[in-house]
Amino acid sequence: MINQERLVRTFLELVYIDSPSGQEARISTELSDRLRALDLEVSVDEIGNVLGRWEGVGQPLLLSAHVDTVSPGIGIKPVVADGIIRSDGTTILGADDKSGVAVILEVLAVLHEGGQRPAVEVALSVGEEVGLLGAKSMDAGWFRARQALALDSGGPLSQITCAAPTSDKFSATIYGRAAHAGSNPEEGINAIWVASQAISQMLLGRIDEETTANIGVIRGGHAVNVVPDRVEIRGEARSHSSSKLDAQIGAMRAALENATTAHKGARLELEIERTYHAYRLAENAPIIQRVARVLDALGEEPPSLRKGGGGSDANILNGRGIEAVPISTGMQAVHTNEECIAIADMARCARFVLLALQRSMDE
Ligand SMILES: [Zn+2]
Repeated sequence: MINQERLVRTFLELVYIDSPSGQEARISTELSDRLRALDLEVSVDEIGNVLGRWEGVGQPLLLSAHVDTVSPGIGIKPVVADGIIRSDGTTILGADDKSGVAVILEVLAVLHEGGQRPAVEVALSVGEEVGLLGAKSMDAGWFRARQALALDSGGPLSQITCAAPTSDKFSATIYGRAAHAGSNPEEGINAIWVASQAISQMLLGRIDEETTANIGVIRGGHAVNVVPDRVEIRGEARSHSSSKLDAQIGAMRAALENATTAHKGARLELEIERTYHAYRLAENAPIIQRVARVLDALGEEPPSLRKGGGGSDANILNGRGIEAVPISTGMQAVHTNEECIAIADMARCARFVLLALQRSMDE
């Protein structure tokens, strides 16, 4: 049985270990020690991903979560009140995704206490929040599991994100020419003006039901009396349809190129990168069926499938032939200082994962 007190204690202990993206060494060591103490065979790769395995009964099921957190995430002071865990308001909480990690540790602890052990694999990734870096560099050949629960989502437990988009990001630098803005502006090329003309020709926000686009960063200029010679623009587009994504990114590229060529002497440097690939799981996909059976056995609502707009380690796992479905741990308001999690929701997720593993022994 899930020990709710121990689950909360584990969660809080993890939250106290600072682990912003890129600084995961301490938590990786802590987690590999904890997995070894639970008799898992553990492998830590050079960037700090922690992989673990139990030989056991049945086909292995992979449990995935990420160990890094977004900013501000240093010196988090969790506050527990009325069954809800929050930060003190000056940082995020880090339930994204330490709630997923805590659930995995609790479920393994329960199974470790006695009885038959199911075959389990664990993937705890680093750098998820900065482009799924850990999952991308994991040795996919290490895994024997063909199905995974990615414990890194919010919302009701029964709400299943069965599809996620492909995402491209770009970084553009427009070079103009500096000049004194008052005495000889005609000798300058205003890079900010070029950029603004490019952006004004772009469609942004929700493009259609499957496609979104954004300019998220713009940086340039030094002083009000200097014609700026350089501006940097960073943006992205996502779509569940790769042809729509190509069209959107193509249009953003054309806007940048057209605006730049319209200003003689201006120059554009553009880098476009695919961040991750889409996935789509059909309603009859084995992993969805499996989730549905476990929800049913727990007396939960039947799964309601929805398309998500974000990327997660599930995108990478699905791309590598491991059917992975994001599962809600109960985390709320992630990536804000209001982030919180209800203890009851986290425990509910743990009961779900425990039963999924117990049942995997007969499947
Ligand atoms: Zn997350």
